Amino acid sequence: MKFKQSSLTVGELATGHGLSVPLFHIAGKDSQAPKVFIQANVHGAEVQGNAVIFQLMKRLEQMDVQGDVTILPLANPLGINQKSGEFTLGRFDPITGVNWNREYLDHQIDVASWYQRHCELDDKALIAAYRAELIASCDAHLNQQWGVTTGKRLAVTLQQLAHQADIVIDLHTGPKSCKHMYCPEYDVSSAPLFSIAYTLVIPNEFGGAMDEAAFCPWWQLTEHMNAVGRDFQVPVAAFTLELGSQELIDLEDALTDAHGILAYLSHRGVVADKVEPAQMPRYGCYLKDYKKYHAPTAGLVEYKARLGHILYSGETLANVLRLDRFGTNEELTELVLNQDCVPILHFASASVYQGTELYKVMTNLFELYTS
Ligand SMILES: [Zn+2]
Repeated sequence: MKFKQSSLTVGELATGHGLSVPLFHIAGKDSQAPKVFIQANVHGAEVQGNAVIFQLMKRLEQMDVQGDVTILPLANPLGINQKSGEFTLGRFDPITGVNWNREYLDHQIDVASWYQRHCELDDKALIAAYRAELIASCDAHLNQQWGVTTGKRLAVTLQQLAHQADIVIDLHTGPKSCKHMYCPEYDVSSAPLFSIAYTLVIPNEFGGAMDEAAFCPWWQLTEHMNAVGRDFQVPVAAFTLELGSQELIDLEDALTDAHGILAYLSHRGVVADKVEPAQMPRYGCYLKDYKKYHAPTAGLVEYKARLGHILYSGETLANVLRLDRFGTNEELTELVLNQDCVPILHFASASVYQGTELYKVMTNLFELYTS
């Protein structure tokens, strides 16, 4: 086996049992090739990324791997084990209520003064120095005298691994969802390499998620360097892939997404083997055009719009049933939108409060092409 297995400790339970995560690593042949970090299942119910990792590792075992590859499945043991009845919760830290994927650290480095102190360095040395700065910042945060929350400890421990890589891929799923991915605006030409039809193009704003934690500090530095006249490109790539619905393992579908990741890694020279991206139509949407639709009324929901298919203006998004209003014109409410969109995901439960985030839809889509 090419992969070496170890384990990463991310916390401790009240009983003293350690929370550890299996960690897999392949040392690449070429120290100059990009280094990769892939993690899955930071949200407890979003298990499909583990299946994709399984298929990916099976393929990588047979390939000519040039760059270091570090893979962390089952990245949030506390979240994954947080079950209630038949379902996995695991989206929010049960102690603090904070979303597990909003806990990553915003380093808030003053890039102007940092660059001023390091502008004599060539690109390679500059990248190494900035990387060391980010890793040290994580370390300092974890070891501060006031301590950190359980969720912060997990996130910043993962972030420290991510900062060591040039390519970071965080595997998630939606609740009930079609496949989509988050891609930073500067890297939109990479999106069509993955086997994913819908891409959200995101700006240089830190919202606490892993992908942003990985690329924002580099994008900020790059923008500053470009502004002061130095030619430099963001050296780190980071993506969040949303691999369909939660609470689902599909090994055949996982093969499709493992192929997409390999097509990207092949393009980047992480593997010497040639892997062509899948032939399929792909669409982009700016984050500002990704709309949340909140339930205008409470009730029981019949989700009608098909995920990943265009819904034309005036077509039924969902029906809301109100037995308490039987015999009135409010017993059944048809929900429609007055613009065309592509529904990407919907709420997992069929009974909702008023104001529940019912659907997320892409509007103003544009086609993406492989270059
Ligand atoms: Zn998620």
